[in-house]
Amino acid sequence: MNWIDTLGQRPQVLVSVAGASLVLNLVLFGALLSRSGGTDEASVVTVQEAEVAALEVGGAPVVEDLLEPVAPAALPSHLQLLRAEVDQSMARTFQVADPEKGDVINAVAARLFWWDLDLRSDLQRGDEVAVLYRWDGDLPVIEAATYESKKLGRTITAYRYQATGDGWTSWWSADGEEVPYRLNVDVMADYEQITALINSRVRHHGIDFKAPVGTPILTPKAGTVVRTNWNTKYNGNGVEVRYGDGTLGRFLHLSSTDVKEGQHLSAGAKVGLCGNTGRSTASHLHYELEKDGRVVDPLEYHGTHRRTLPAADRAGFEAERARLDALLNTST
Ligand SMILES: [Zn+2]
Repeated sequence: MNWIDTLGQRPQVLVSVAGASLVLNLVLFGALLSRSGGTDEASVVTVQEAEVAALEVGGAPVVEDLLEPVAPAALPSHLQLLRAEVDQSMARTFQVADPEKGDVINAVAARLFWWDLDLRSDLQRGDEVAVLYRWDGDLPVIEAATYESKKLGRTITAYRYQATGDGWTSWWSADGEEVPYRLNVDVMADYEQITALINSRVRHHGIDFKAPVGTPILTPKAGTVVRTNWNTKYNGNGVEVRYGDGTLGRFLHLSSTDVKEGQHLSAGAKVGLCGNTGRSTASHLHYELEKDGRVVDPLEYHGTHRRTLPAADRAGFEAERARLDALLNTST
């Protein structure tokens, strides 16, 4: 179920990986033997241990790809695994893999992959995608996802995990970097996830932050309120602020606005509360920028960074990652 038939390609891939693995293991095995003087103790080192040892001494990325779970886990009934070879586009790939729910799975999975890949131009035939997810109402919650990119020459990984001190789970790569970038400024007190970027939908001119109704919305820069609550059929309650450099910042779909036209705001001032007003189907902030009549990307304007998982979380994350990797390698 939820599998695309890739039998035409997959055996070839497996053969070549197995071939590489065999060579590599022989080399590692030899290295381990010589390092320990070829004693009996060394001769009981297993293939798995050799691969782990390679990782510990800083093996090349290819080694990581060869590390497979000792015992593939059975997939619990509440989880689903979609694994496919990419063909034409990500959307098309997911549609073929799951004609009924592929579109929504694609939309949610894209939020993890678009930070590293241009989903329009960077995909190549033969790339492989895997998504482990469960349903929460109509939306998939992605527990883990991988994308093997020929263009990048590496595999993008994302594991769902809640870091200490965070109000929400996020997604972290195998090496402990947060997958979604964060703005270098705050536009709200806290948010669950960035769910849309500029042009991730047609004529989408801002960034969407999913957050509960009532979350305080903050202007990241000092400025003057130009207008509030215009075009409410589409924007809902909104605030437009002109920053010092003339750039207009717009905060839309608010449940309420707390400022008046002409009011001067210092950086970090509250402009209103997150909501679901106007043309919106779930509580979120739409934040967009305009300068001289042109759309400006908040990621570029404010700058971004990637967080690293706190050291105290590493052991817990590694255990969770091992659990999710085993599930990703489940055969159905
Ligand atoms: Zn939006």
